[in-house]
Amino acid sequence: MIIDCHCDTVLQAYLTNRLITERSSSGHLDLPRLQESGVKIQFFALFPGISSSISPLKQILILGDFFWEQYKNNTEKIKLISSSSDLGEVMETNKLGALLTVEGGEVLEGELRILRILYRLGVRSLCLTWNNRNEIADGVAERDARGLTDFGREVVKEMNKLGMIIDLSHIAEKGFWEVLELSDVPVIASHSNSRAIWDHPRNLTDEQIKGIAQKNGLIGLNFVSEFIGAPAAGMKKLLEHIDHILELVGDDYLAFGSDFDGTDNLLSGISDVTIYPKIIAELEKRNYKKSTIQKLCWGNCLRILQQIL
Ligand SMILES: [Zn+2]
Repeated sequence: MIIDCHCDTVLQAYLTNRLITERSSSGHLDLPRLQESGVKIQFFALFPGISSSISPLKQILILGDFFWEQYKNNTEKIKLISSSSDLGEVMETNKLGALLTVEGGEVLEGELRILRILYRLGVRSLCLTWNNRNEIADGVAERDARGLTDFGREVVKEMNKLGMIIDLSHIAEKGFWEVLELSDVPVIASHSNSRAIWDHPRNLTDEQIKGIAQKNGLIGLNFVSEFIGAPAAGMKKLLEHIDHILELVGDDYLAFGSDFDGTDNLLSGISDVTIYPKIIAELEKRNYKKSTIQKLCWGNCLRILQQIL
């Protein structure tokens, strides 16, 4: 069983005119492939990547509608997770659990009321920034990045109150530490790897990994080759990230956050979501403890969902 904390499939499916619920030969995942691969819960990000001529907020509303229109016709196969009580239904049935998230706090346009209405639309996690500056904070691509704005501090507090998962992938370091200090509950970095293993600004330093662990949070391993290592790096390099994080903080904070459908450049050897059984087999071959593999595959993320939602 797998819980995966990040994919951009809603956008990719919208742009390529395919249905998430039907098997496709394009893209990295869909409902049949998720079920075949043992994925039990998939986070679906709404990422405003349709067109820069449309406002980010309008884009994620369009993508949210695209998701909901498919969801409403498939409620016997998919369960949108909006509270911790929904987790029971997902675990006890054959349904895929879907968690709606938004990637990029610019969609709020500086208004807490938009955060609250997104919550009512079923969104349960917000990646506070993408790579650039927005009304909340700066992303990793900004030079001399600022930390949280006053509005950003309000967003953190409101997300705590609503029971939304704060996602710190993409945020620049200053804001990262301010959120850690401010949030009352664990935070996640849904799709980021180790910077000690591969020095990329989208990856987390050892200090950041320890910070998330002290907060009882979660780090989702990303399968994009750019964040794992040199373009030709294979599975061995992904395992280096796993080993490093396990060594640094133990096995209670690691999960998967594939970034499927968010890139054309997955790690070589990874074609789509159907790779998961092979990854698990690889971990078993390496003699990781059974309990460690379970925590990495689903246990740690389930703990966060139960705690925050
Ligand atoms: Zn991302």
